Amino acid sequence: PRTPVTVLGLGLMGEALAGAFLREGHPATVWNRTAAKADRLAGRGATRAGSARDAVAAAPLVLVCLTGYDAVHEVLGPLGDVLDGRVVVNLTSGTSAEARDTAAWVERQGGTYLDGAIMAIPDAIGTPDAAVLYSGPRAAFDLHERALGSLGGTATYLGADHGLSALYDVGVLSLMWNILNGFLQGAALLGAAGVEATAFAPVARNGIETVAGWLAGYARQIDDGVHPAADSTLDTHLAAMEHLVQESESHGVDAGLPRFIRALAAEAVAAGRGGEGYTALIDRFRKPSDHA
Ligand code: NDP
Repeated sequence: PRTPVTVLGLGLMGEALAGAFLREGHPATVWNRTAAKADRLAGRGATRAGSARDAVAAAPLVLVCLTGYDAVHEVLGPLGDVLDGRVVVNLTSGTSAEARDTAAWVERQGGTYLDGAIMAIPDAIGTPDAAVLYSGPRAAFDLHERALGSLGGTATYLGADHGLSALYDVGVLSLMWNILNGFLQGAALLGAAGVEATAFAPVARNGIETVAGWLAGYARQIDDGVHPAADSTLDTHLAAMEHLVQESESHGVDAGLPRFIRALAAEAVAAGRGGEGYTALIDRFRKPSDHA
């Protein structure tokens, strides 16, 4: 028998989540502030709850997917007494502090809290492309791993600290924005020479894949606290960063990011670390300076 599941919040993501549970044969109870958003799911066999309270009371596993934590507290706040004995899985995006505070509150109501981060768009939910990260008590994850597996390819457990899923989430978002900003910088520079972004894209993709291949080794250096220049020294990087700044300035392309990147390496070089590898810059990220 499949675990009955409740989904609170049927926006773009919540509807996809509830749909994935239904597809895998889980009895699903759904609730949304704007009731009409439950229509399609009701047509597919979901039970429509008249209130958030009734929805929570309907299942041992309660998924929450709302705009933000203000909405989560507005919806769950009055329901403390029905959370007792249930597992609340909150897939609403937020900060690690919000996740930890909400976990403490749910636990005071007698419930168990898992925080989650969805690394996918709604269309990918239920497919192998959807990765969802969870943090909180291991036993609750193990108990519901199979049901949570309905949401997609991998349900990954990160650890007991409820804040971890939010931290991994922003870690990956940082990566995404830095990669995309680098792509836009390159596209603007090439655009100034009349080259279309579509011509740059395959070369950019190779570059991203090359860097991706470095991550495991660089991570080892960061964890070991040693930064040998296996491929290239910071001195060499700094010289190339200078080219990026010059090209941007001379073509009238925004040079703000290139100057910031150059400042990071220049500081390390000025501190006598020019012979080390790129991961030496981790110290600057860990302990920000006022200079850049
Ligand atoms: P939507 O804007 O589509 O849906 C928001 C939902 O929150 C709606 O169900 C809305 O209800 C509800 N809501 C907002 N405020 C309140 C409130 N005060 N009381 C009750 N319900 C409220 O957003 P998404 O579904 O796209 O996103 C939901 C969460 O999922 C966000 O935290 C988002 O960051 C996260 N997420 C989304 C991804 C995506 O690609 N869409 C990817 C990864 C994470 P109503 O219909 O009544 O307005």
